[in-house]
Amino acid sequence: MQYDYDLIAIGAGSGGLSVVERAVEYGKKCAVIEANKLGGTCVNVGCVPKKVMWFGAHIAEALRDAPDFGFHVERKGFDWAELVKRREEYIGNINNWYRGYIKELGIDLLQGWGSFVDEHTLCVDGKLLTAETIVIAPGGQPLIPNETENAELGITSDGFFALTEQPKKVAVIGSGYIAVEIAGVLQALGTETTVISRKDLVLRGFDDLIRQTLTDAMIESGITKQYHFKVKKLSRVEDGTLCIESEDHQYLKGFDEVIWAVGRETLTEPLALEKIGLQPNGKGFIEVNAYHQTQVPNIYALGDVTGQAQLTPVAIRAGRYLAERLYNNQPELKMDLSKVPTVVFSHPPIGVMGLAEHQACQQYGRNAVKVYQTDFTPMRYAFTQHQIKTALKLVCVGEEQKIVGIHIIGDGADEMLQGFAVAVQMGATKVDFDATIAIHPTSSEELVTMRPMILK
Ligand code: FAD
Ligand code: NDP
Repeated sequence: MQYDYDLIAIGAGSGGLSVVERAVEYGKKCAVIEANKLGGTCVNVGCVPKKVMWFGAHIAEALRDAPDFGFHVERKGFDWAELVKRREEYIGNINNWYRGYIKELGIDLLQGWGSFVDEHTLCVDGKLLTAETIVIAPGGQPLIPNETENAELGITSDGFFALTEQPKKVAVIGSGYIAVEIAGVLQALGTETTVISRKDLVLRGFDDLIRQTLTDAMIESGITKQYHFKVKKLSRVEDGTLCIESEDHQYLKGFDEVIWAVGRETLTEPLALEKIGLQPNGKGFIEVNAYHQTQVPNIYALGDVTGQAQLTPVAIRAGRYLAERLYNNQPELKMDLSKVPTVVFSHPPIGVMGLAEHQACQQYGRNAVKVYQTDFTPMRYAFTQHQIKTALKLVCVGEEQKIVGIHIIGDGADEMLQGFAVAVQMGATKVDFDATIAIHPTSSEELVTMRPMILK
């Protein structure tokens, strides 16, 4: 049977673009369907705009600490609109670059919502297209809980990136990646920020050392933290500000914006999956096997829609490996999802790879686990008024003390982790870390100078 294309990807985000990009290298005829802007969540409303705001926040923090280093500076103001304008210009350039790049590669861009007609046929704006292989990579969108009354009065991370004026007072509801990242940026840039968690510490699932250190740092930075606050209702009051009511009738008032940061939902509805007999699971994810294949043999799914770690490099790796399996004779190539390094761009940032202490104990038994940890004030804050802690933990297992978890919170953690991740990926042990000569004076040297085991 002749098809229009060898492969069509639905979604030109991290996953969809990576698979077509690699497939054309192997001479395949490819198209990508995109309803919005090229680059998907990461480029337009995720990693990229977030990191720009994070850099802005860092400059604000450097200005705050400048007098402690003898600089006579005065912060005369901060132009939110200017930063947003420059950020969006930068993103516009990335969108344009992608457009030119995929054209140059010979990938057809089909602009519009794609939906299934049958397992080899897709419809985009009334136009039918066929492909031998179809890759579903539609990502997701921020979740607004429907059980909260007037929840729509709040915005989400998408709305945060759309703000052209700096809000004076904001409540961020949630305690995951997005909540801590947005709250950190807002507070550093001068917005009075409250974080509302229905539990206690932020970042559930992370190691307790990280959770406690970040929660303390957030409070230290001036963020108001509301613990055990279950949001029942939002309302707009007469002066135009927003009020938040808890299930036990506590009220928080006077917010210009309320930001929901309580997770994301997959964007499967427009796909008409019923036409191919596929149904997302109870959490909305499309289930795939270790080769990213769905229950329909010629249809694959990758990225956020699969429920695997919702991170850009994971989606990219999945796309590239899929093309290698399909078109470069590497049918057994599989991702190792047990070792995914991740950075939270909080204040201070966090870098983590592998198991938290509690997870290692569950997996290997308490007696097999040995933990090394330290916390200190890094030299950067030795004599500043604001002192931000660094905390580090290594989780090791077995006789040979194999490192199964590395946890870093503190300035520079974001850039520190990648190199250590290579070591952990290669199976490094505590002895390997002990044998490595430190780099001084840095915070990362503490990771190779923790109480040594037997030196090689
Ligand atoms: P997406 O990038 O979401 O791309 C999907 C694309 O498909 C979208 O462009 C969408 O418009 C399109 N689409 C959907 N359905 C259809 C359809 N039916 N027809 C046509 N087009 C369709 N990850 C990191 O690694 N580091 C970070 O620092 C980071 N920061 C983040 C910050 C925020 C605020 C958010 C929200 C996410 C962040 N992420 C980060 C996560 C990262 O953005 C995602 O994991 C990644 O973008 C997932 O890629 P994807 O290809 O699965 O989907
Ligand atoms: P997360 O899954 O990280 O966190 C959401 C948290 O919100 C939950 O852990 C939960 O915490 C809390 N929550 C859920 N429902 C409610 C509710 N009704 N009221 C109050 N709190 C609630 O989701 P995010 O939206 O922060 O991020 C989505 C994903 O995007 C992340 O998991 C990550 O994979 C990716 N991402 C990655 C980034 C990076 O790499 N730096 C940055 C941003 C996003 P609890 O149960 O403790 O209450």
